[in-house]
Amino acid sequence: MLILLDQDGVLADFELGFHNAWQTKMGHKHPALSPAERRAFYVRDDYPKEFREEVEEIYTASGFFRDLPAISGAMEAVRHLLTLGHDVRICTSPLNQYRNCVPEKYEWVERHLGPDFVHRMIVTKDKTVVHGDVLVDDKPVITGTRHPNWKHVLFDQPYNRHVDGLRMTWETWRNALMVDESRSQGTDSKTS
Ligand SMILES: [Mg+2]
Repeated sequence: MLILLDQDGVLADFELGFHNAWQTKMGHKHPALSPAERRAFYVRDDYPKEFREEVEEIYTASGFFRDLPAISGAMEAVRHLLTLGHDVRICTSPLNQYRNCVPEKYEWVERHLGPDFVHRMIVTKDKTVVHGDVLVDDKPVITGTRHPNWKHVLFDQPYNRHVDGLRMTWETWRNALMVDESRSQGTDSKTS
């Protein structure tokens, strides 16, 4: 199976990174929303309009994307999917303010998944033109110029729960992706 994994909100914990950076820099003016309180897909839409510039300053700052923590269980699951023989790619849309975001997304993948994984990066503003069997993404609705041939599996986040459909976390990925462990080609397959 060709599995496309979104980066932010699926592998990299944008929400926690933003929360911590905001609390440090701006918490005295407006307390950071906890990740569980987030309701809009774009973080800027969850903060008062007068802070729009400060919100953008946080996530466009040098080091923001590079230093995002990994979402719990994600790295182990990605490696496991590879050992099961799946073709796993990271399919990510950079900010329009790309100068820090794009190189730091690569740095992040190199740091957390190793230099070989950099070959698996697909950086695009339109994920509908990318082929795949499955796209795991936290964005509620993904649109573009084509009718995609992948199935969207929603990565569960507090801001996408208004959308129905197949969803998963890194605790439930085996069921959501219908991974058959018995066909494992790797060494860490479990037999029972
Ligand atoms: Mg995302």
